[in-house]
Formats: sequence, structure tokens, C-alpha cells
Amino acid sequence: MKVVVIGAGMAGLAAAWELTRTDGCEVTVYESERRAGGVIVTEHTQGFIVEGGPDGFLAGEPELTELARELGILDQVVNQCARGTSLWTGKELAPVEEGRAAAVLGIEAKGVEVAAGFRSFAAGMSQPVAALSQRLAATLRTGQGVTGLTRAGAGWRIALTAGPATEADGIIVALPAYGAAPLLVSAGVAGARALADVVYVPSITVSLAYRADQVGAPLTGAGFVVDPDVVGARHVVPLQIRACTYSSQKFPGRAPPGHVLLRAFLAAGAGDPPGAAHTQLAAILQLRGEPLWSRVFQWPRGLPRYHASHRDELREVRHRLAELPPIAIAGAGYDGAGVSACVRSGREAARLIARSTAR
Ligand SMILES: Cc1cc2nc3c(=O)[nH]c(=O)nc-3n(C[C@H](O)[C@H](O)[C@H](O)COP(=O)(O)OP(=O)(O)OC[C@H]3O[C@@H](n4cnc5c(N)ncnc54)[C@H](O)[C@@H]3O)c2cc1C
Repeated sequence: MKVVVIGAGMAGLAAAWELTRTDGCEVTVYESERRAGGVIVTEHTQGFIVEGGPDGFLAGEPELTELARELGILDQVVNQCARGTSLWTGKELAPVEEGRAAAVLGIEAKGVEVAAGFRSFAAGMSQPVAALSQRLAATLRTGQGVTGLTRAGAGWRIALTAGPATEADGIIVALPAYGAAPLLVSAGVAGARALADVVYVPSITVSLAYRADQVGAPLTGAGFVVDPDVVGARHVVPLQIRACTYSSQKFPGRAPPGHVLLRAFLAAGAGDPPGAAHTQLAAILQLRGEPLWSRVFQWPRGLPRYHASHRDELREVRHRLAELPPIAIAGAGYDGAGVSACVRSGREAARLIARSTAR
């Protein structure tokens, strides 16, 4: 049985990993970019570890830890060091409950889940991506996007950006909802257009490096969020910063000794993100001098946010998919946006396809 996975973000990689452990299954993963991982991006710069997308996963969720164990990198899982988040009230950094801090950032997690803290990997969040890419090397086709799906007998025909179309007995579409919707529409899935309604909130992250002696304020906990009321208030200079993670305090090894790594989250549309991040952080954290360097990641479509009728529409789309040759959807756009939820979603889709192709 031949299964094609479309998209090599965490959901697609987890799906492919699950399928390679299923007897009689031949897997191919098509990824339009030249690298796997999707929004998971880690860079190693001058002794710093810089995250562009996620910097950790909820410690209370077992999926990534279990995956790490299967990949032989369990000893690379690291716990959050500094705990607690502050609220920037416009005048001071005040303690805030973790659940509220998460909500300000648009993270849909229960207070108790967030209270258990986060975990990451010693070399950053791309470590499990690298381990999966290595194990799946024979199946992974990067720089090869999928442009259309049509039914072919009891299976599927898959049109590719480069090269001739290919066929498969089963398909897992592990794309953001706005990418999956047109493919499913091309495959004739009634109601699939509704998936494009999932809103992906834009954001900008700016990582900035300083010498420890440049930071005047005590860095307490793992970072701060900005009170939404302060964002709405009138300022001489509009406040663009929404939150800041003290990366070098949150996880071990993120900065060389004697240095501090900060990661600011800015509102979309902020002009000169490194300048805005430094100026606004300098006022809040009493930073002296210029950063040693900065690195910006723009996310025009960042974290998905589900609207009120999402679950019903999703149920309807899955109901339609079940009437077709084996096909499943997985990823952040459907059953949870966190990295752990994406692993779960990918693996569940793989089991579903393995069951339906075995029939
Ligand atoms: C800035 C930011 C910070 C975050 N922080 C956290 C965090 O701290 N903790 C946490 O748990 N989660 C966090 N998240 C959320 C989490 O990282 C993502 O939701 C998750 O990684 C998404 O995985 P995915 O596989 O569903 O999608 P993606 O990562 O978007 O992967 C989809 C893949 O499909 C590919 N693709 C697209 N179109 C095609 C096509 N036509 N053919 C082939 N391939 C295609 C893309 O190139 C991409 O590689 C964060 C997200 C962002 C953006």
C-alpha cells in the first residue's frame, strides 16, 4: 500500500514516522520548501540558539517526549529552567497567572496545562525535526509541492510542481488549513472551502543578544506579556511589543555565559522590527547600549485561531473525506495548534489511513 503525505511540518513528519512503522506501507512525503519542519526553525549563531517559531512544548503533553524516546533523543529533552511570567502594566512588571499570560498570547491551553511548564530540546526545537528527517530520508522529497488531487480508481492521483503526477492508495494532507482547502476542493470534497476560514494570526518575532551587563532590570521568570489594555492606550510612540521571552533563562544553553538572549513578539505591521523591539525593551528592561545582533522572523500567517463553528465544520469535512478513497487531514489548523497536538494529529491520521487502506 502506497501512502503520500503532503507537507513535512511536524504533523506530516509524525504521520510519516507512524506509517513507516506500519507493516506493508510505502510512504512518500512531498514538501514544497527545501527543508522540513514548517514553522519550526532553529538557528545556531555565535554560541546562541535562536528559535524562529516554537521554542518549546507543554510539559504536560506526552506526545513529543514519547516521539523523542522512539527517535533515541530522549536524553536531549530539557526542562524549563526559569518559571513564571510577568505582566507589563505600562509602568511596571507585575506577577500574572500563567493561564492569563498564555491567553494574552493566543495560546489555547488550560491553565493547569500551562502551569506544568514547557520543555524543549538541548539543541532547540528543530532537533526532533532533524532526527525525523534523518530517519525518513528515503521517503522525503523536499522542494516538491503538491498542486492538485484527483481520484484515480480506488486511490488518488497527485499533481506535483516538478515532474510527472504520481499515484497513491492513501493520502494525508498535513498542510495549514488555507493550503489544504484548495487541494481538497480540487479533489471534490464538499464543504472543504470552509477550512480556509481558519484565521492564522500574523506576528513577528525578534531575537536580540546582549551582554549580561547591558541589562539593568532584574530578569524575573521566563518573560513578560504586555497588558492588552496598555496596547490599546494612547502612547507617544505606539507600543508594538506584545510579549518577551527571556530565552536564555527559559531553557539551558540558549546563550553563552555572560550573555542574555531575549525574544520579542511584535504586532504585525511593525516597521523596523529590530529597532522597535530594542527601543521598547530598553525602556521596560533598562537595557544599555545596542544589541550585539538581532534576528527577525516574519510570520504573515502564524498561529491558527478557530472560530465558533470550527468543530462542526471540521466534523462535516471529515465525514465527507470518509466517503472517498483513503484520505485524512492533519496539522495545526484542525485539532490544536501546539507542536504536541500536531504530533498527535499526524499520528492519528496515519492510523486512520493504515486502517482504511488495509480494508
Ligand atoms: C511564531 C510561532 C511560535 C509558536 N510557538 C509555539 C510554542 O512555543 N509551542 C507550541 O507548542 N507551538 C507553538 N507554535 C505552533 C506550532 O509550532 C505550529 O502550530 C506547528 O508546528 C504547525 O505544524 P504543522 O505541521 O501543522 O504545519 P506547518 O509547520 O505549517 O507545516 C506545513 C508544511 O507544509 C508545507 N507545504 C505547504 N503547502 C504545500 C504544498 N502544496 N505541497 C507540499 N508541501 C506544502 C509547508 O512548507 C510546511 O513545511 C508556534 C507557531 C508560530 C508560528
